[in-house]
Amino acid sequence: MDKTSKSLLGMDREEIAALVSEAGEPAYRAKQIMDAIYRQRVESLAEISTLPQGFRERLVESGVSVGAARIEKKFSSVDGTVRYLIGFADGQSVETVWMPEGDGGEAGDGSEAGAEAESSGSSTSGAKARSEQDEPIAALKRCATQNPARTFSGRSTICISSQVGCAVDCQFCLTALLGVKRNLTAGEIVGQVCAVLKDQGVSPPEDRINLVFMGMGEPFLNYENFIKAARLLVEGVGIAERRMTVSTAGIVPRIRDFGEEKIRPKLAISLNASNDVLRTRLMPVNKKWTLEILMAAAREFPLRTREWITFEYVLLGEVNDAPENAREVAELLRGLRCKVNLIALNPGPGIDFTTPDAERVAAFQNILRAAGIPAYVRRPRGRDIYAACGQLKRTVEVATSPELQLQTISLSSAPEG
Ligand code: SAH
Repeated sequence: MDKTSKSLLGMDREEIAALVSEAGEPAYRAKQIMDAIYRQRVESLAEISTLPQGFRERLVESGVSVGAARIEKKFSSVDGTVRYLIGFADGQSVETVWMPEGDGGEAGDGSEAGAEAESSGSSTSGAKARSEQDEPIAALKRCATQNPARTFSGRSTICISSQVGCAVDCQFCLTALLGVKRNLTAGEIVGQVCAVLKDQGVSPPEDRINLVFMGMGEPFLNYENFIKAARLLVEGVGIAERRMTVSTAGIVPRIRDFGEEKIRPKLAISLNASNDVLRTRLMPVNKKWTLEILMAAAREFPLRTREWITFEYVLLGEVNDAPENAREVAELLRGLRCKVNLIALNPGPGIDFTTPDAERVAAFQNILRAAGIPAYVRRPRGRDIYAACGQLKRTVEVATSPELQLQTISLSSAPEG
């Protein structure tokens, strides 16, 4: 076993069952371990009090650990958003963002919470929609938190990272400036969620938590680990798949694979431009998978009942935000079961674009709506602490590893399959 495969966090039911049986322990121990890791979110084997002391000791001797993620730093925004710097065993770190709700402003974030806020238009709908049975449990949990003043609104969102850095090189994104250092393991992806849930003192499914795979990295360039993490979040942590959304820059072969998955989050695609010339300039990945190829995959994507594809569109002042661009987007999306989330650029050092003013954003939105496409403006969250979309860039720079450099290079070659 290598170092990471010895972390319990990231193992699925079968892998834990194998570990238990190798140790000659009864099969029910596997469920005890699953519960301890994913439901109670223990940080050490010593905390798993349901296991006999001897078994725990043998696990430690054979190099097995929980492998919990560590919160290294925490930055809190005036709007309630918290940006976490989360560290792993090899010293690498990523950012994970907690977005509490309560004012209905989450509309358009691509998550289930956004959809609820949109459809109700009420600031307390999330809390009201909770079943009455849930309330006492959630209230008890609130009392148990370290910060009793914090009120849980019932529809918070965690934005998680899938890679250390990113290889896709979108010209308006701060994460791109890092390059990519490595993929996260499934355990490291799930570990971010466990660490944040624990720190916030909340627990799904009693507390409604939405997840967006929209942090650092391109989830579809770390597909196997991402999809395993999504499964563990459903089966282990207890977050419903309809409460999760994954966003991709448009890695077309993986969009097709993703459509075939039995358990999968909802799909969001970062469109960001209305024609190929513009998109290739802003997102070099468009050289390999052009709008025609990307939109074909989107049209063929097997949507479930009441599911839609979300298209994100970052508005860059005087670059892709003209009425003509909006009309081109409407044309591209015609007939698709989809919605558009407009994101006015979140600025950052080293990013040579401007944020369009509110009138220009509204004009763009109105053109889409007039064409029958639901379009929402994503409210920036935690801009003051660099937690908003495209602003996740750790203070420590990362070097590019040879293996992932290859991935970057292969993006500009001929289309796959
Ligand atoms: N790699 C994935 C996941 C990142 S999601 C993807 O590209 O979809 C992050 C979202 O924020 C994407 O839709 C991206 O286009 C958007 N984004 C990136 N930089 C931004 C910035 N500076 N301001 C606003 N949105 C940005």
